[in-house]
Amino acid sequence: MSTALIWRAGGCHCNSVRFEAALPDRVTAQACNCSMCEKVGYVHIIIPQTRFRLLEGQDHLTDYTFNSGVAHHLFCRICGVKSFYRPRSNPDGWSVNARCLDDVSTLTIDIEPFDGRHWEQHAAALAHLSREPSIRKDASI
Ligand SMILES: [Zn+2]
Repeated sequence: MSTALIWRAGGCHCNSVRFEAALPDRVTAQACNCSMCEKVGYVHIIIPQTRFRLLEGQDHLTDYTFNSGVAHHLFCRICGVKSFYRPRSNPDGWSVNARCLDDVSTLTIDIEPFDGRHWEQHAAALAHLSREPSIRKDASI
């Protein structure tokens, strides 16, 4: 096990949308039960802005918003798969769909439940996940 970040590729089903996310060997992911995530089985790996790069498919992304309008649900307009998006809990970062990574053979994913049906009570617990390590104020940790 290493905490070094490795760029791991992923994408939508038709491969029009391709991205890379810098992840260590072991990550914690959230399985959310909100109205959106439960229907599509989305599994969140939330990362800072700088640990994500879109390689292809900007023109193929469709942005769906609802409710607060803060989250940007980015679907491939060809195949309909949401491989990553801008989450309401972490508008300064990205959520990558663990199910859309190409190769998880070198990645251990610990999935924890997230109670998105009661989003207001729980969202703050996710805020740290998109924080850039370099600007973390609790530098003693
Ligand atoms: Zn697609």
